[in-house]
Amino acid sequence: LDPMSFSNESKAVIDFIADYYENVEKYPVRSTVEPGYLSARLPESAPYCPEPLDDILKDVHDCIIPGLTHWQSPNFFAYFQANASTAGFLGEMLCSGFNVVGFNWVSSPAATELESIVLDWMGKLLQLPSSFLFAGTGGGVLHGSTCEAAVCVLAAARDKALKELGGWENITKLVVYASDQTHFTFQKAAKLVGIPPSNFRFIETSFSTGFSMSPEKVRIAVEDDVKSGLVPLFLCATVGTTPTGAVDPIAGLGKLAVEFKLWLHIDAAYAGSACICPELRHYLDGVELANSISMNPHKWFLTNMDCCCLWIKEPKLLTDSLSTDPEILKNTATKSEAVVDYKDWQIALSRRFRALKLWIVIRRHGLANLMHHIRSDIAMAKRFEEFVRKDRGSRSWCQESSHWFASVVGGIYVIRCAIGATLTQQHHVDALWKLVQEKAHTLLKERE
Ligand code: PLP
Repeated sequence: LDPMSFSNESKAVIDFIADYYENVEKYPVRSTVEPGYLSARLPESAPYCPEPLDDILKDVHDCIIPGLTHWQSPNFFAYFQANASTAGFLGEMLCSGFNVVGFNWVSSPAATELESIVLDWMGKLLQLPSSFLFAGTGGGVLHGSTCEAAVCVLAAARDKALKELGGWENITKLVVYASDQTHFTFQKAAKLVGIPPSNFRFIETSFSTGFSMSPEKVRIAVEDDVKSGLVPLFLCATVGTTPTGAVDPIAGLGKLAVEFKLWLHIDAAYAGSACICPELRHYLDGVELANSISMNPHKWFLTNMDCCCLWIKEPKLLTDSLSTDPEILKNTATKSEAVVDYKDWQIALSRRFRALKLWIVIRRHGLANLMHHIRSDIAMAKRFEEFVRKDRGSRSWCQESSHWFASVVGGIYVIRCAIGATLTQQHHVDALWKLVQEKAHTLLKERE
């Protein structure tokens, strides 16, 4: 790595990206390419000799960009927000530039210590109880995704339960509870840690409760399982479900979890970011009853992919489950037990210095601007809601210059609209509504 060419080539790439952002609104949000389009455009095998960066960037422009779905377009309303920001990008650059692999404290002390500090910062922004913070009795870790976090907490819960039950042969008794709106990642995670798929209970939700999970329904399922000789293990509550943004009643579920010794995890992947605003923090009321909570700053917190915060009340349960102690990694810092070794809080050994990114995002924006970002997105979403409420004639719409996604909720086919891409402004949302109206009116006319 030659510092001079590194600097020149990096600048060229940054200019390329700046130009991309300059033009991102002009691209069709959803790629129009056909499957297999790329192999028709690229050589069949890797080059033997180095190629100039200009040639590569030309191919990125001509071959890659047409196959991108433009998540950073202000007209992107699909899936969920994946906020990028200059601060997030700068953090990624530093992370990539240093390219340290901080799997334990000694392998890069700053990577570990900054991660612990920034998890406490973020936890305080969300007003988590000190039982989740290093400053208190808990702690946090950065994963790449909620799925990884879910696997880790499920493994910790499983191992705690199996220890109490007397061994691995009891794994077929363990039961996991989630609502029918819970992200499918938890089903996958439960399977990965060996919970039989038939022991995953989907608690039914309905329109009448805004698709949030009823503690009473969970109680009925838990009591049934206990009667059948099964062991309730884990309950996943969601703050901001993927299909509709529903919020499960954390306090009610928490009380139930305590009563039945269920591990309560709160998945606040996307909507958790909103809880930095005091007027929205109530969605986390009852969090003190949970065992763990996760949220993804890479969704709605201006943090470029990837970044998932996981806080846990008893980190020892996680490390009991995930620790390894190979000869090659033995060192005096670990032996002293005065340090965190994050390899024991996650699946992989290798890990990126993600904390830099979140630290810079928080510092460059400050709480004030982060709250402003959330509030302005909510204001745009509310205005859109108002449009829909006022125009009860619009029932159908099909995709055109914006990108939305559909879902089926309570048996009803719905079109989701996730407002909150970093560049989205009110006029984009207004234009979207106009488009919905036009399409709906055309469809209704066709039916007449
Ligand atoms: N949980 C919720 C509520 C989500 O909205 C999502 C993503 O949409 C996930 C979990 C999955 O997150 P990840 O992709 O980080 O595993």
